[in-house]
Amino acid sequence: MTTASNILLKISEAGLVGRGGAGYPTAAKWSAVKTALKGKKQGYIILNGAEGEPGVKKDGYIVKHYPDAVIDGLYLAERFLGPEKIKKIYIFLNREYFESYGPGLKRVLAQKKYHLFSEKTEFFIKPERLAYISGEESALLNLIEGKKVEPRLRPPYPTAHGLHGRPTLINNTETFYNVSLAVAGRYEERRFYTIGGAIKHPGVYALPETLSIEEVLRRTDNWPSRPFFVSVGGEASGEILNSGQLSSPVEGAGLVMVYDKERTSRHKLVKYWLKFYHEQSCGQCSICREGTYRLEEIAARKPFDHKLFWEIVDGLEESSFCALGASIPMVLKSYLNNIKN
Ligand code: SF4
Repeated sequence: MTTASNILLKISEAGLVGRGGAGYPTAAKWSAVKTALKGKKQGYIILNGAEGEPGVKKDGYIVKHYPDAVIDGLYLAERFLGPEKIKKIYIFLNREYFESYGPGLKRVLAQKKYHLFSEKTEFFIKPERLAYISGEESALLNLIEGKKVEPRLRPPYPTAHGLHGRPTLINNTETFYNVSLAVAGRYEERRFYTIGGAIKHPGVYALPETLSIEEVLRRTDNWPSRPFFVSVGGEASGEILNSGQLSSPVEGAGLVMVYDKERTSRHKLVKYWLKFYHEQSCGQCSICREGTYRLEEIAARKPFDHKLFWEIVDGLEESSFCALGASIPMVLKSYLNNIKN
């Protein structure tokens, strides 16, 4: 029987973690929201499925192929927290996913079982600008509230003080999908990997979550025949590793992007990262707002001012308010240390 305690037990036994990138234990997050709802009137549930990280495609794959399980996961969240305690459920998607896969999700929601649940479910479309930062969960709360899209200071956490100041459960598409499997006793400790770039078979694959990066590439017949390097976790915010450093599991949102070592223009790649960060900076903190602008400017100028460039990168590492600013040093430093020679 799917009682609240049974749902939590199944999630806990399956050892589910969030699949948006942070890897926070799902059972702990769901318990925190339930506890916060005690004594409060109502709260919210948000499915964060807009995928602002370049290169990552697994949430789109999941809503396309498994709309039933995604809606079931959301429905189980509402059952667990108490239908009377949930004011609204938001499904946050980018425009492409909404237009392509929204009809499939709506068909599932039209089933009799979801009659009352679907009445309080609303789709929310990601704006084109600030596509990356609007997926950061506290910035997403601001977006839905119609405020400036920027991350909030934490604590308080969204679990207790989320949308409109009320307890809010925010999980990634893959997490809700996994909840559905776990509660049905069908979860197999797999995760979705997006594999792209200079390989033979780009796509989204469901494979054991413990595989190393090398195993993921070999099992999918994507081990390159030419010298290569990879970006792991995200195309813009990932870690850059050479082909001899692939023995650890895939972190973050599950992306492995492969670059041909000899055919990739390093100058263009660095320019791409810097442009991305400059465009996506929400402007809340000066080190990221000014720093991303200055890095792009320095990279375009000759002679290249190494000292100033790396001083700004160090400043971003020390003082960025959120993960976007803090990701810039990771991608640039790992590239410098592991690839550039
Ligand atoms: S680090 Fe950048 S994206 Fe994050 S809050 Fe500061 S300005 Fe915004």
